[in-house]
Amino acid sequence: MSIKNFTKKLLVWYDLNKRDLPWRNSINPYIIWVSEIILQQTRIEQGLPYFKKFINKYPNVFELSRANLDELMNIWQGLGYYSRATNMHKASKIIVQEFSGDFPVSYESLVKLPGIGDYTASAISSICNNECKIVVDGNVMRLFSRLFDLRKEVNSIGLKNQIKFIGDKLISKSKPGDFNQALMDFGSMVCSPKNYKCGNCIFSKDCIAFKNNTIDLLPVKKAKVMIKTRYFNYLIGLSNNDKVKIIKRNKKDIWQDLYEFPLVETNHEIDISETGKKFKKISYFNSKKVIKKLTINHKLTHQNLNIYFWIFKTNFEDKNCIKINDLESYPFPKPLFEIISQIK
Ligand code: SF4
Repeated sequence: MSIKNFTKKLLVWYDLNKRDLPWRNSINPYIIWVSEIILQQTRIEQGLPYFKKFINKYPNVFELSRANLDELMNIWQGLGYYSRATNMHKASKIIVQEFSGDFPVSYESLVKLPGIGDYTASAISSICNNECKIVVDGNVMRLFSRLFDLRKEVNSIGLKNQIKFIGDKLISKSKPGDFNQALMDFGSMVCSPKNYKCGNCIFSKDCIAFKNNTIDLLPVKKAKVMIKTRYFNYLIGLSNNDKVKIIKRNKKDIWQDLYEFPLVETNHEIDISETGKKFKKISYFNSKKVIKKLTINHKLTHQNLNIYFWIFKTNFEDKNCIKINDLESYPFPKPLFEIISQIK
């Protein structure tokens, strides 16, 4: 299982074709860390403005460690997988307290930090510390599965181990960071999921999937996961002083640490006749005072959310009620943020 001159060919290709990205010429581990975390589960075009905003606001680990969590979540708003941001915040505090702000660059130290797994530790340690640790992300899994006809299920430990075994032999000893970034770029720019460019591929003579015409079958897809359907009812009580109650989500569930309105989750869509019974824990809700009901459907990877906003008038106010005009300064999940303009 070898391809002649693989490493050399890949590095030459990278020198000629690498994407011009703001973190590309940096070996600052803080910059590499921020870029790698933002780009997890996120396309470069989507992640790039977030990276710029983030670095602008928190240019180094000290600034991030002092960040107000709500402000940080505001920057992250819309990017999803919010635990990435809270873990970065926790990690930054550890780096300041235990490493005096000197960002660790060794794989062994990095994997001990919150939110840093094998992939991120490999990326940072290879780019910033020349460690020969191959990165295995979705692009690399697809590329290697096709090149070497690997038939293990995508994202499985078995496939990752097999790729590490092959990659350990191929990785450039002098430029492991460039090698890893080249693999990721090549996987995404040439060996793409659907629009693969085999005609321009420097490895087409050796690629087994190309030879066998099995490109579309690789990498082997995961068995379909069950999609859960949920029904969220948000009770938006508008007070006489133009205030509305908001609550921070702190349960271990989606959108942790973001804000929301009082929520009642039901197991089906309910109509106004059922609200008395279903919303009884929100004592100030009055079905006769409902002004409108808005609906949004929001899809997450494994959840289909049917979200209903019940907007009503109330006299109720408590310490968690804030001015409607101030809502936009709080970090809300995307579908809730979208509704704010309609309740003003
Ligand atoms: S020949 Fe095609 S399938 Fe094989 S590595 Fe190149 S782009 Fe991917």
